[in-house]
Amino acid sequence: MIPISLRMKFDNSVMLMAYLKGGSTLYRSFLLIVGLLLIPINGLASSEEDIVEQRMSYYTQFEEELIPWHFLAAIDQYERNLQTVRKDIPKREGFLAIQFSDEYWSGALNPEKNDTIPETICYFDGMGMDGNGDGIASRQDDTDVIVSMAHYLSKFGTTDEDFKLALWEYYGSEEAVNQIFAIANLYQHFKTTLLDAHTFPIPTRYDYSYKGTWGASRGWGGRRIHEGTDIFAGYGTPVVSTSYGVVEVKGWNQFGGWRIGIRDNHNSYHYYAHLGSYHKDITVGDIVEPGTVLGYVGSSGYGKEGTSGKFPPHLHYGIYKFNGRSQWAFDPYPSLLQWERQAKKAT
Ligand SMILES: [Zn+2]
Repeated sequence: MIPISLRMKFDNSVMLMAYLKGGSTLYRSFLLIVGLLLIPINGLASSEEDIVEQRMSYYTQFEEELIPWHFLAAIDQYERNLQTVRKDIPKREGFLAIQFSDEYWSGALNPEKNDTIPETICYFDGMGMDGNGDGIASRQDDTDVIVSMAHYLSKFGTTDEDFKLALWEYYGSEEAVNQIFAIANLYQHFKTTLLDAHTFPIPTRYDYSYKGTWGASRGWGGRRIHEGTDIFAGYGTPVVSTSYGVVEVKGWNQFGGWRIGIRDNHNSYHYYAHLGSYHKDITVGDIVEPGTVLGYVGSSGYGKEGTSGKFPPHLHYGIYKFNGRSQWAFDPYPSLLQWERQAKKAT
């Protein structure tokens, strides 16, 4: 019998009735399996934590094959990030966001673009697999999708380098590889995918001021519009990371002076410029979280290395989103207002 707790979760009463009425053992086993697979869909996945937990159960199934959960989780999150900003990519229904193209799923030369027959998919060298044992390789099925992706990764091996190569083959883009690898690093480090918290880049107990200056023309370096928000504060005021992320860039840039770039788990690159100095412990590749001190406010930039004092001290903060094709700036001002409110409430 099915334990009571499980039965409670069966929303599909027809299936439950069919199960209780009997039938062949094989048929009953089949219904049980289908029923168990339906639990994630019909179960009470109301809160964000529940959804995160459900997703995790998909990622962690391949430990025996030594495919780290954070590899699969990072690919899934990367694709979810794309689907939130790209109008030409449909949002995938279900717990997972991974979407295979016709070509990848069915095989490039397969005349049936939406093939679901494992044998013909295999014949045409497609990646689609039947993961849940229902005889169909369906892109609509989360289990089929995750098993297909895990199988693809396993062909390359299980190390970080193997993973990068698999990503390169699949996405054909260095930016995609870097972005997904950064997400995987964060997930592995923090042992969770719940990394959505943010904070204001200046601890709110310090004096600072800022306003929305998106698109204003700049004073130096030709015709560039202002892609970010300037937060004015005194020399030496700490600058903290607004997000979870990996330090991607650190060093001098003629426009930004001493700047630092952080890649987060939402395909965003956070850019902190005109610093007076860096925090002594921060180096490229480091993992940071909201509130980690990156450096200190200054007025560096607008010239050769070490140039300083050409404008009042401030932090220039920008966010660039990678959408799978290009990286574009978006106005961080609304987010800053929100993070500031949250930071003030927390103190
Ligand atoms: Zn600025």
